[in-house]
Amino acid sequence: MTADPGPPHHRPHRPPHEGGFGWHEVDVMAYKQEGDAPFRDVTRQVLFDHPELACQLRYFEVAPGGHTTLERHEHVHAVMVVRGRGKALVGESIHELALNDLVQVPASTWHQFRAPDDEPLGFLCLVNAERDRPQLPDADQLAALQADPERASFIRH
Ligand code: MN
Repeated sequence: MTADPGPPHHRPHRPPHEGGFGWHEVDVMAYKQEGDAPFRDVTRQVLFDHPELACQLRYFEVAPGGHTTLERHEHVHAVMVVRGRGKALVGESIHELALNDLVQVPASTWHQFRAPDDEPLGFLCLVNAERDRPQLPDADQLAALQADPERASFIRH
């Protein structure tokens, strides 16, 4: 008789499915509730969610042509690109993202991730377990972000 291994997040070893970016008993969820905030073609998998940790580690995958929500909040993100490539807006700057790049999103900083048209963008995101609700830009904030032509052509909202 084997002991109950407990919730999947507490198991000592969880290999991925073949292909590498899905795990047994880790649900592939929609990034956010539909209609909650604008985004396109993003999935979310929570890899680590222990009560003993003050953070969660998630894997997000943005399908080709997709993007995350343009948002900001008080909690911070620590991101590592583990699949494909893409771009990220962090604050006022747009960054080209390649495999293994690290991205830090400070508190109260606008951010958005985008995949190119021909490849998905997959990244690990470490985040506070307790976090405030993301804020979406109002018309004035969006106009300020779009004042720069490079940002204007990048941003999806
Ligand atoms: Mn965020």
